[in-house]
Amino acid sequence: MRIAALSDVHANLEALAAVLEHVATAAVDAIVCLGDFVGYGPDPNACVERLQAPLRASVSGNHDLAALGARSIEDFNLFAQEAIVWTQRALHDDARAFLTALPPHAELDGLFLVHGSPRKPPDEYIMDTRIARANFAAAPFRIALVGHTHRPAVFEESNNRVRRGVLADIPLSLSAGSRYIINVGSVGQPRDGDPRAAYLIVDTAPAAGAATATLFRVAYPFKETQRKMEAAGLPVPLIERLALGR
Ligand code: ZN
Repeated sequence: MRIAALSDVHANLEALAAVLEHVATAAVDAIVCLGDFVGYGPDPNACVERLQAPLRASVSGNHDLAALGARSIEDFNLFAQEAIVWTQRALHDDARAFLTALPPHAELDGLFLVHGSPRKPPDEYIMDTRIARANFAAAPFRIALVGHTHRPAVFEESNNRVRRGVLADIPLSLSAGSRYIINVGSVGQPRDGDPRAAYLIVDTAPAAGAATATLFRVAYPFKETQRKMEAAGLPVPLIERLALGR
């Protein structure tokens, strides 16, 4: 099964549209979303509406919970808090109902799907091998797909060792004897220095050989998103970072 995994769309409709257009040419069997549909960006309702139908599975992110008032925003930075308050006002009932129904984790074709980490689904950032190791120990998944950090990465556990690696646009072979945590990056607010939208395709059973994971980067008209954010009165640093990928 070829599965396109999107995460951290953050109400960025231009980035989402560009990614969905790219996915449409990639012959996938399913699309999944790892949470943070909203927060930061200017199009929360349109993004939920656009994704709702094509999604086979999805999970809840910390910004989705915050936008519903189901989570405190005290640990968010001030700009993120401002954007959440704006989003709470902007959300329509149907988008709110969709976000409310999202589970904390999901599974599709052997892939464990979660926003932050397997042991603390919406909140934990897996930034290093120490935290990755603790998560491999905490749950029995073989391949987990995560988002939340907005930085693509792969953690591999084999023979009791955990290594961190980068993902590229050439397929990474996933060894049958290893376990993986793969961060798919962010569609709507990349933070790895590359402003292009990121998403991942996992092929769980290619015609020959082991499963593969391939990261894609898609350019989108971020100036249009910035213009909308400005018109909405969203915080300037959130507008500026889209151009930087930071
Ligand atoms: Zn996020």
